[in-house]
Amino acid sequence: MTDTPAENAQQASFRSDVTVELVKHSAADSDVLWAARVSTAGEQSLDELRKDPERSKGLINFLMRDRHGSPFEHNSMTFFISAPIFVFREFMRHRVGWSYNEESGRYRELEPVFYVPGESRKLVQEGRPGKYRFVEGTPEQHELTGRVMEDAYRQAYRAYQEMLAAGVAREVARAVLPVGLFSSMYATCNARSLMHFLGLRTQHEQAKVPSFPQREIEMVGERMEAEWAKLMPLTHAAFNANGRVAP
Ligand SMILES: Cc1cc2nc3c(=O)[nH]c(=O)nc-3n(C[C@H](O)[C@H](O)[C@H](O)COP(=O)(O)OP(=O)(O)OC[C@H]3O[C@@H](n4cnc5c(N)ncnc54)[C@H](O)[C@@H]3O)c2cc1C
Repeated sequence: MTDTPAENAQQASFRSDVTVELVKHSAADSDVLWAARVSTAGEQSLDELRKDPERSKGLINFLMRDRHGSPFEHNSMTFFISAPIFVFREFMRHRVGWSYNEESGRYRELEPVFYVPGESRKLVQEGRPGKYRFVEGTPEQHELTGRVMEDAYRQAYRAYQEMLAAGVAREVARAVLPVGLFSSMYATCNARSLMHFLGLRTQHEQAKVPSFPQREIEMVGERMEAEWAKLMPLTHAAFNANGRVAP
C-alpha cells in the first residue's frame, strides 16, 4: 500500500549538516611544479614528478605570491556534495574552472530532506549591509526557528505529494518546494578555481581580503578545503601564507 501525501510529509527528515565527499581526484603539488618548470626546462620538466615536492616549496610559494596562477590548473578534484538548494544557488555563481551536475527535480521525485540550523548556528544578524555580524540567538529563537521551519517544510512537501498523487508532473509540482530542501551534485574543480572559491566563501584569520559568506556555504567550503589540503599540502600552505588570495 502506498503512503498518503500527509504520511509522506510526516516522514520528512531534518539536517543541520552538509555532506562533502572527494570522489575522484588527480591532484598533487608536483602537478604545479612540472607545469611551472616547462618555462625553463621544456619537456624535461616532467622529471619533477619523480622528485620530492618538498624541495620545491619555494617555487610554489613564489608562484602563489606573484600570482602566476596557471600552473595551479593542471589537476582535478570531483566532490559529491549534498546541501540545501540555497547553498547550491550561491555555489553555482562560481563559473570559471568549475563543472556541475545536479540531481533533477524533473526526472525523479525529490526526497523530503530539509535544512534546519543546528545549535551552533548564530541566528541573529546585527549591523548594516556590508558590516553585518552574527550573534547567538536565544533558546526561544532557536526553538521557534526549528519548529516553524519544520511545519512549513512539512506543509510544502504535503502539497508536492498531493499534486504528484493527482498525476501532476514532477517538474510542475516542485514549484512549491522551498530552498531549504536538500539537493546533491557533483562539482569538479582545480586548485586555482577552488582557491578562488575558498577566498570568497570562507572566513579565515590569514585572509588578506576578508569575506563574509553565509555560514552554510562556508561549511561546504571548509570540508572541501580539508580534502584539498591533504592532496596538495604545499600549495595549501602557500595559499594561507599569501593571504588566501587565489593566484
Ligand atoms: C559574501 C558574498 C556575497 C554575495 N552577494 C551577492 C548578492 O547579493 N547578489 C549577487 O548576485 N551575487 C552575490 N554574490 C556572488 C558574487 O557576486 C559572485 O557571483 C560569486 O562570488 C562568484 O565569484 P566570481 O564571479 O569571482 O567567480 P567565477 O564566476 O568563478 O569567476 C572567476 C573570475 O573570472 C573572471 N570572470 C568570470 N566571468 C567574467 C565576466 N563575465 N567578465 C569578466 N570577468 C569574468 C573574474 O575575474 C572572476 O573573479 C556574493 C558573493 C559573496 C562571496
